[in-house]
Amino acid sequence: MKTTYNFNAGPCILPREALQAGIEALQDFSQTGMSVIEVSHRSKEWEAVMNECRALWKELLHIPDNYEVLFLGGGASLQFCMVPMNLMEKKAAYLETGVWAKKAIKEAKVFGEVITVASSAESTFNHIPRKYIIPSDADYFHITTNNTIYGTEIKTDMDSPVPLVADMSSDIMSRPVDVSKYILIYGGAQKNVGPAGVTFVIIRKDILGKVSRHIPSMLNYQTHIDGDSMFNTPPVFPVYIMTQTLKWLKKLGGVEAINKINTEKADMLYAEIDRNPLFKGTVAKEDRSVMNVCFVMSAGYESLEAEFMEFAKSRGMAGIKGHRSVGGFRASIYNACPKENVQALINCMQEFEKLHK
Ligand SMILES: *Cc1c(COP(=O)(O)O)cnc(C)c1O
Repeated sequence: MKTTYNFNAGPCILPREALQAGIEALQDFSQTGMSVIEVSHRSKEWEAVMNECRALWKELLHIPDNYEVLFLGGGASLQFCMVPMNLMEKKAAYLETGVWAKKAIKEAKVFGEVITVASSAESTFNHIPRKYIIPSDADYFHITTNNTIYGTEIKTDMDSPVPLVADMSSDIMSRPVDVSKYILIYGGAQKNVGPAGVTFVIIRKDILGKVSRHIPSMLNYQTHIDGDSMFNTPPVFPVYIMTQTLKWLKKLGGVEAINKINTEKADMLYAEIDRNPLFKGTVAKEDRSVMNVCFVMSAGYESLEAEFMEFAKSRGMAGIKGHRSVGGFRASIYNACPKENVQALINCMQEFEKLHK
């Protein structure tokens, strides 16, 4: 297999160990003589996987007992609709920090009044707004902790005067989180905890049943709590790989240990972006994401963008093209991205500098 340094934004790099376990389970799952995608989801072997997955989530994030962890379909995008459908009676507040936040706002407007408390849209979402007022009569306040496209991140758990909801699609399990500060945390698995196809929802159980609208069964969180995420057939293979990914994370020392490694990786790469005269960062330093590192060619070197892209590709870098709405480059350095991959990108930037300075 050729050496590729995978910086894709999602789907993205996963731990080799988790993939290997997946290959084995595709052939023979838990000594059943059947593949993990051939067994009944009601079998005791499969139930053991679901239980293990739930237990790993609770253990790794120290999730309090009054919360449930759900594994659903539909991606984070379906949560943009399920959150307001289940939690908004009249009014909700949203912080607009990127394209994903905008999409969440658009869906919420279907269900009631949405107050966008602040937005960084006018500056291409290059920072996290800090001065805003959250209306005290909002049913909840929604934030996107990591803005995958722009490379900004809310790195601490904020205090909110109303119940807090967070889209943590692209930074879940990258750092310790005080779950008790949120009523609901959700995300697509394909950025940091598994393959596409499964969506995680961490929900405080007492918040449900308070809206007056009728909620269809499949879109009602209560249905999935009551059914232990098996009201219908769960996405078995994505859940299996997610379980293996969390086992890998636990072995490594959990979110506390990975947070240290992630910070080191991000510091290394941002230091190179700041040092190398050919490149510059695109967002406010204090809001720089630990997961998605965005950068562009510096003034005077703009014409070298396509050449650097080719140069990086020839050295095995994959997925560093910036999102089409931002341009430039984006290196997604999620949990499973080893430090060596970040170093390989830094070496590549330094070699390119020598060719052009
Ligand atoms: C990728 C992403 C989404 C969309 O996830 P899907 O599972 O594709 O619906 C939503 N929010 C954030 C922050 C993301 O990074």
